[in-house]
Order: sequence, then C-alpha cells, then structure tokens
Amino acid sequence: MNGSGRADAAAVAGEHRAALDALAADLSGGTPRDDGSWRPVVDAALVRPGDPAYDDARTVWNGAVEAYPAAVAYAGDEDDVVRVVEMARGTGLGVAVRSGGHSVAGASTCDGGLVLDCSRLTGVEVDPEAGAATVKPGATLGDVDGATRAHGLATPLGVVPDTGATGLTLGGGTGYLTRAHGLACDRLTRIDLVTADGERVTASDDANPDLFRALRGGGGNFGVAVELAFDLVDLDHGVATCDAWYRFGDDAHAAGLLRAYRDLLADADRGTNVSPYAAVVPEGEGFPADAVGDLALCFLGVHAGDPDRGEAELRPYRRLDDDALLADRAERMDYLDLQSLLADGSPQGDRYYWKSVTVPALTDDLVDLTVERMRSMPGDRDTVVVWPLGGAVADLEPDETAIPARGERDVVLNFEASWTDPAADDAHVGWARGSVAAVREVVDGPELPNFAGTETGEAAARAVFGDNHGWLRDVKTAWDPEDVFGPSGRLSPWPQSR
Ligand SMILES: Cc1cc2nc3c(=O)[nH]c(=O)nc-3n(C[C@H](O)[C@H](O)[C@H](O)COP(=O)(O)OP(=O)(O)OC[C@H]3O[C@@H](n4cnc5c(N)ncnc54)[C@H](O)[C@@H]3O)c2cc1C
Repeated sequence: MNGSGRADAAAVAGEHRAALDALAADLSGGTPRDDGSWRPVVDAALVRPGDPAYDDARTVWNGAVEAYPAAVAYAGDEDDVVRVVEMARGTGLGVAVRSGGHSVAGASTCDGGLVLDCSRLTGVEVDPEAGAATVKPGATLGDVDGATRAHGLATPLGVVPDTGATGLTLGGGTGYLTRAHGLACDRLTRIDLVTADGERVTASDDANPDLFRALRGGGGNFGVAVELAFDLVDLDHGVATCDAWYRFGDDAHAAGLLRAYRDLLADADRGTNVSPYAAVVPEGEGFPADAVGDLALCFLGVHAGDPDRGEAELRPYRRLDDDALLADRAERMDYLDLQSLLADGSPQGDRYYWKSVTVPALTDDLVDLTVERMRSMPGDRDTVVVWPLGGAVADLEPDETAIPARGERDVVLNFEASWTDPAADDAHVGWARGSVAAVREVVDGPELPNFAGTETGEAAARAVFGDNHGWLRDVKTAWDPEDVFGPSGRLSPWPQSR
C-alpha cells in the first residue's frame, strides 16, 4: 500500500460524509473488547481518517498489511451489522468484514471501503445435553475452547488462542483435532448470516443449503456471519502430546526423518495429528548449548483419544533418531494447555506472508524439496510446516464444502514467512511464493484458504478452490450480485483490498 492511501481514504470518506454521519448516529457500537489480546481498544462506533483512533482502528494482526479504509464501523449488535451493510450497498462502498483480525492475507481490511468490525459481538453458549455450541463472531478460539472444555466438550479449531473462531471456521480451519474430527467448518450445523441486501438468513443443510455449502470454507464472500452453531465432540480427558526436536543434520538426514514420518502417517490412527516443522534451536528450555542457533526438525502433535493409547501412538515420532534427538518434551496435558502452547509464537505487528499447497502424499521428490525449502529459508523465523490432513477430513467429498482438499489430499505444506524489516519483504515473500511454485512443478494442488497468499483475481481464486470455483462463483452471484463483500473474499475482482 502506498503513502497516498490515507489521503485517498480521507477523500472517499469526504465524498460519503453525509451517509457516514448518518451511520455514525445510528450505530450502537456496543462495548469495546478489552481482553488484553493484540487488538487496540477503540471506544468509538465509527472511525474515519483524521480521527485520533484511526490508526488503531485500521490495525490488523499482520504488520505487513497496511490498508486505509474510508471508515471502520464497530457493530454492537446485529442491527448495527444490518445498518452497515445497507449503508455500504447504498453508497457502493465495499465491505471488509473483520472478526478476529488474523487474516494473514489482509482479507479483513481494505483501501477506501468500509471495515465492519464484529469483535464486540462476543459470546459462546454451550448446551451440554445436546453437545452443541453457538458462537458469536467476536469470539476467539480461546473463548470457544474455554466454554466447551468446561463441559468436557470441544470442536476442532486452530492452534493459537487469539485467532478469531469465525474467520478460521469460514476458511476451513485446521488444528490438532483435524484428523480425528475434521476441519473446523465440518462441525458446523448452522450459520446465521446478514446478506448483502441486509436480510437475516439461516444457512444449514435444510435452509439455503447452497449457501451453507459455500460458507463452509468459502470465507467472507457471501455475507456477515452473526452466529455459528457447532456440533461438539467429547473431550473430557487429558491428551498425550509429542514435541520432539531433532538435529536437522545434512539434507539426507533431514529427508530420512521426513520419510520416516511419511511412513508413520500412512498407517496413523486418525486420532494422531503430528506435524513436522523447521525451527532454529532457541537458547535455554533444556536444549544442548552446542545446538543453539542450529536448524532443527521438530515434530509437534497430539493424540485426541485416550492418553494411554495416545502415548503409544506417539512414541514412534519421539524415536525417529535417538542420536539426533535434541529434546523430547512429550507430556500429558489438558486440552486447553495444548491450545495455548503456541500463544506467544507469532507476535502481532511483525510482518507475515503465508502460502500453502495441498498434496496427495509426501513422495520422495517432495521430501527432498521440503528439505531444500527448509534449508533455504531466508530468516530464523521462517518455517515450513507439514500439516497432516486425511482422517476425518476425507470423510467428506471434495465438493461437499468449499474446501477441495479432501480424500487423496493427505498433507498440506505451509510456507510461513515471518520477519520484521520491511526492506526484507521481497526475500521472505519471494521464498514462500517460490516454494509453492516449486511444489507445483512436482504435483499441483489447491491452497488452504486460511494459509493462502495475498494474490487476488480469478487465477488466485482457482488456486484455492480448485474445481469448486465454478459453483462457488454461482453462489456468490446469487447472494452478493453487487459484490458488497468483495474485499472480504477471494471470489471477486475487487482490486484495492490487497
Ligand atoms: C497466529 C495465527 C495462527 C493461525 N493458526 C491457524 C490454524 O491453526 N489453523 C487455521 O486453519 N488457520 C490458522 N490461522 C489462519 C486463520 O484461520 C485465518 O487467518 C482466519 O481467517 C482468521 O480468522 P479471524 O476471524 O481472526 O480473521 P479476520 O481477519 O477477522 O477475518 C478473516 C476472513 O474471514 C472473514 N470474516 C471474518 N469474520 C467474518 C464474519 N463475521 N462474517 C463473514 N466473514 C467474516 C473476513 O472477511 C476475512 O476474509 C492462523 C492465523 C494466525 C495469524
């Protein structure tokens, strides 16, 4: 984004001054969320360029995303959501819907449009008898996990607690329970949505099933989700985990570790969810002093079932090479502790670019390529994460939801770049993009929406949705013909969002 962004946003806000004044007068705005998380606390209901709170209001989690909206509107209730959508439709301003603000690609903000912030619409209600939960859009993963765990229940979400549960679920959602219980969107039973024409509709298998199918993984393209309902799973026991760090060694050694992992994954119980990733050995935490600063190959994961069985299932991942083992930090822990293990791993405001590709299996070629991409990471904080799919993810057909990576797509390779110096943007983004391009030369596959890059346009949308792109476009046209939610999604030609 360039330096004229702020001036351009101010010009758009000036052009629509009367409509924005009327909206500001109508919004209840609700109570600011002040939970000590990454998000700056803003008191106003509507913030425009020139307002003292503007820079706080336009802040999103990824510091590399620098966008200048014409206004940020905070919804205090569902009527506010309707007001913002109606105002946007009337003025032609596009809407970027924001809940947890963690979109790495910046899909919850935009230049010159409206940001509709739902973070003040909080609340999670659990019905333990029915094994079900309803979740408001401002709820984080931590909010949902805390409320469900209190009843010995859970739903598969992601791995960092202050991520928004709504954005994560609408984008599919992978986490420690993925292989056992599916993607986050697979456990949805209902979504209440405010549509582009300001109507409140329900989407489920019975009501507006086309919309429901599209929303499960299709993201913010179709409307504003104001409530999600989940079918929960039992999780009333501690879980066995695996957190094994090995010396990376030479390429042949690292490839050997990944091949051993690949072979274990082929026969793994679906409760087992272990993920290899590359990391630089930190100081302390029990690591040998002579390894600090070296590259390591780590295996982090869980078994979702009975912890005794889980320990047995996970043991082989902790015994891949005893001579190269740097740390074996396996523990039984409460599911909530597991869910907050990575809470501090990715500081807000640093720069990030993530890109992914799903593949049928880690063939020998892909193992070698993964090792090479780990070796060529431009910075200490970049990583390649190999995330297992399959298991319950494969219980659904590739066209049953928006996520095509079902069935034969057993692994996703996430290339996650993190850095702080803007001058290094090209090196990190180039490495991640180049990595995905290199994988695609071996085998093509769709990206996962939550780990897709910043690219826009039809080719980028097809790269995410694969063969589902056609019917998703039809649903988009039916429910948002004027592209009110262009900035929120990947299915439109909206030019200025990212
Ligand atoms: C630190 C970190 C850890 C992560 N870990 C995981 C992980 O383990 N697994 C995983 O799958 N992903 C993970 N992600 C990716 C994350 O799931 C996506 O970035 C997700 O979109 C974040 O949701 P949010 O509500 O925080 O985001 P936002 O930035 O608020 O929104 C993201 C997208 O969802 C849309 N959206 C948000 N709210 C609504 C709404 N109410 N109605 C309609 N559309 C809406 C937005 O318009 C945007 O397109 C992680 C991201 C970060 C930054």
